[in-house]
This record gives sequence, C-alpha cells and structure tokens, in this order.
Amino acid sequence: MSRISRRTFNRLVASTAATATISAPFVAHAAKPTVVVVGGGAGGATAARYIAMDSGGAINVVLIEPSKRYYSCFFSNLYLGGFRDYESLGHGYRALAVDHGINVIHDWVTGIDRPGKSVTLSSGAKISYDRLVLSPGIDFKYDSVPGYSAASASIAPHAYKSGTQVQLLKAKTEAMKQGGVFVMVAPPNPYRCPPGPYERISMIASLLKPKNPTAKIIILDPKEKFSKQTLFQSGWDAHYPGMVEWIPASVSGPLESVDLETLSFKTDLENFKADAANIIPAQVAGRIAHQAELVDKSGWCPINPESMQSTFDDNIHVVGDSSIAAAMPKSAFSANSQAKVVANHVRHALTGSREFPARYNNTCWSLIGKDDGVKVGASYKPGDGKIEPTSKFISKPGEDAELRKKTYEESLAWYANLTADMFS
Ligand SMILES: Cc1cc2nc3c(=O)[nH]c(=O)nc-3n(C[C@H](O)[C@H](O)[C@H](O)COP(=O)(O)OP(=O)(O)OC[C@H]3O[C@@H](n4cnc5c(N)ncnc54)[C@H](O)[C@@H]3O)c2cc1C
Repeated sequence: MSRISRRTFNRLVASTAATATISAPFVAHAAKPTVVVVGGGAGGATAARYIAMDSGGAINVVLIEPSKRYYSCFFSNLYLGGFRDYESLGHGYRALAVDHGINVIHDWVTGIDRPGKSVTLSSGAKISYDRLVLSPGIDFKYDSVPGYSAASASIAPHAYKSGTQVQLLKAKTEAMKQGGVFVMVAPPNPYRCPPGPYERISMIASLLKPKNPTAKIIILDPKEKFSKQTLFQSGWDAHYPGMVEWIPASVSGPLESVDLETLSFKTDLENFKADAANIIPAQVAGRIAHQAELVDKSGWCPINPESMQSTFDDNIHVVGDSSIAAAMPKSAFSANSQAKVVANHVRHALTGSREFPARYNNTCWSLIGKDDGVKVGASYKPGDGKIEPTSKFISKPGEDAELRKKTYEESLAWYANLTADMFS
C-alpha cells in the first residue's frame, strides 16, 4: 500500500466530507416515495403533473413515455378537415421535467413486476415504485376486421392513435379521384372517443366538398346506433347533402372480407370498392396492461370507482382509455378528470394529505362543419361498484348558428386548457 502524507490525507478527508454533504440531499431524495407513471398521454401526463405539483416535492415522480412529442388524437379530426395544422397537435415534455421536477424517461415499459413493485424498461433498467399509475391508452384487435393487420395500416390507416397515421389518411383522401369513394369501417363498442369516427366523417366531407364534390363517403358500421347520431346525420344532410351514407350491419350484414390490394369490402348485401379507406378496428386496453394481468375478460382494466385503483392490485391505478370507467366515455377529458382523482388519492396515501371524494366530468365536442359545433357531456361520481352519471347534457338538433359557433369556440378553449393542464 502506498504511503500518503498528512497533507494529502487531510485533503482526502475534507473532500470525502464535502462529497457526503453534497450527496445528503440525494439520500433524502431517494427516501421519498416514488410514483411511476406509464404513458404520457391525457391520463398519464395529467397524473404526473398533478402529483408533482401538489405534493410540493414530497413525492418522486417518474414518467415513462416512448415519444418525445405527443400528437393528440383529440382535434386530429380538425386537422383532417383543414381547421388546424398538424404541428398544433404536438406537445413536448420539457415543462414537466424542468418546471415540475418530473423524471421524464423516453422509453417503453416492457414489464411490470407486481409483487416486487417495479417496472422494467426496454433499456433493461428497473425502477421501483410505491404506487404505479398506468395510462397506456388502447391497443387494436386488428383481426376484428377480416384481412386487416398492423402492416396494412399503411394502406388503410386507422389514424386512431397519436402519431403520423392521420397525416397519411389526409394525404390518401386528398389523392382520391374525382367522384371517388371513401370507406370507413367504424369500430364496435367500447372504443376510444364514441363520437370520434362520426366527427371524422364530417371533417372528411368538409375536406372533399370544395375539391371533390361528387365524392361519396360510406360508413360500414357494426353498431346499430352511435353517439350524437341525430346531430351528425342532420348536420351531414345540411352541410354535405347526398355525400354520406351510414350503413349499419343490420342492413349490409357483417363485413365478410377486405381485400387491401384493391380496397374492396365484401358484405352480405353488397361489395364496396374504395379509393381511400379508414379502418378502425375493435379495441382493448394498452398491451402492457394485458402483460401485467390487469385486464378482465372484456380486455379492459376493472377499477375501484373511488380511486381508479385496479381491482387486481391496490398499488396500481389505471386511468384513461384502458380503464373500465363504466358510463364515462373513453376520452381525453375523462382521462384528465380521472387522473386528478388519482393524484389526490396517491398524495393522500403516500404523504397523508387531505383526500377529497372522487368526482368526475366529461364533455365531448364535435365539429360537423365550419363553426357548427355540438357537444355531449355529464358529471359522475362513484356508485355501486362503478362510476355513475349524476347529470347529463347534449346539444339539440336545430340550434341556431350563433349557439353552434359558441359551442365550437368553447371546444377551442377546452383544447388549449386541457393541453396546458397536461404539459405546462
Ligand atoms: C379521432 C379522435 C378524436 C378524438 N377526439 C377527442 C375529443 O374531442 N375530446 C376528447 O376528450 N377525447 C378525444 N379523443 C380521445 C382521446 O384521444 C383519448 O381518449 C385519450 O387520449 C386517452 O388518454 P390515455 O392517457 O388513456 O391514452 P393516450 O392519450 O393515448 O396516451 C397513452 C400513452 O401511453 C404511451 N404508452 C403506451 N404503452 C406504453 C408502454 N408500454 N410504456 C410507456 N408508455 C406507453 C403511449 O405512447 C401514449 O403516449 C379522440 C380520439 C380520437 C382517435
């Protein structure tokens, strides 16, 4: 062993002491409870932000989301209709990291060790949690549409998840020949954003009408009715007469096959040949929820309505589209509302802060044509084992143009407020 002088020894002792002092806050930080949030969308970003903001540094918050930029599905229909540009849908995570001290990790969670209370990332890293908030959105059952697959989403885009699919769908619609046919295969219940496919039809019609007025739009629907049906159908007649045809399965029979080479759709009654198509398959909870065995037979995650805790695991809260929120539709508004209930509950559980009774809200706005906005919404509270509505409202057919314009403007304010509530 080499000999060291007294001066060197003293310097080493001093520097060790300094290191100890510097690392002291780290030790304290590591002792804080940790909440891991999986998914940086409407549910996850809101939960992470509220837990970090309201706990004033008492909880270590880790947000895991693969994408560096979140492109919202909500308002993506307005991009299709030409009422918004694509970049206005994009949001980054900088403020969550810098202003709220959230440890934002851009990676996939590939495994959840429930007994060990940790998650594994695709990098191989492991992160322990005291509570886990899961908001991974949806996954598709591609084979619910015969012939459709993940690979064929580049031919007939679903455009039903955050990302560039909606740009592809718009490009394909704009490239349709004059008088061409656009076919949408609508999803069965339950699925993300009940009015979403029908607002999309309105926006596709709005895009086509000035440049391709003889184009036809066909909706092949496995459902017998849909959200805001009267409002949409009277709106289509008023704005796009003769352009849109909705065909429920009771009329056409079930969809028997789809030929993606020729974009042909075979039903019991008739064959349809499309020039552009939008196939939205059946949906289930995000894949990681299945891997962690947090789903029931329905493919979605049952929750306790007071706290959004998984009925399979008290340490895990499932929010947003993956959860079974009963009467609450799968929407960004719902996910944001659920995430705030979870934030309050988690802070109470981990720091002893005051807990408020769970209350939830949702409004879904849809744009049918320029300045023609409609809405449906409700308030909710925990009921007998499930979330139940306490009051409801819906726009009425025949409302005057002034009111419809006001409703549309309300939706613009909602988008600005909601995305600020997630990302600012
Ligand atoms: C066309 C369309 C229109 C819509 N319009 C509206 C509207 O007007 N109003 C409204 O309220 N809602 C609307 N919605 C619904 C809304 O987009 C969803 O309900 C909402 O995004 C759900 O939030 P979420 O957090 O559950 O999922 P998402 O917002 O999809 O977030 C899930 C996140 O989890 C991440 N993730 C998934 N798996 C993992 C993993 N293993 N590891 C890490 N991260 C993971 C994903 O990358 C994603 O960013 C619309 C949807 C569509 C498709």
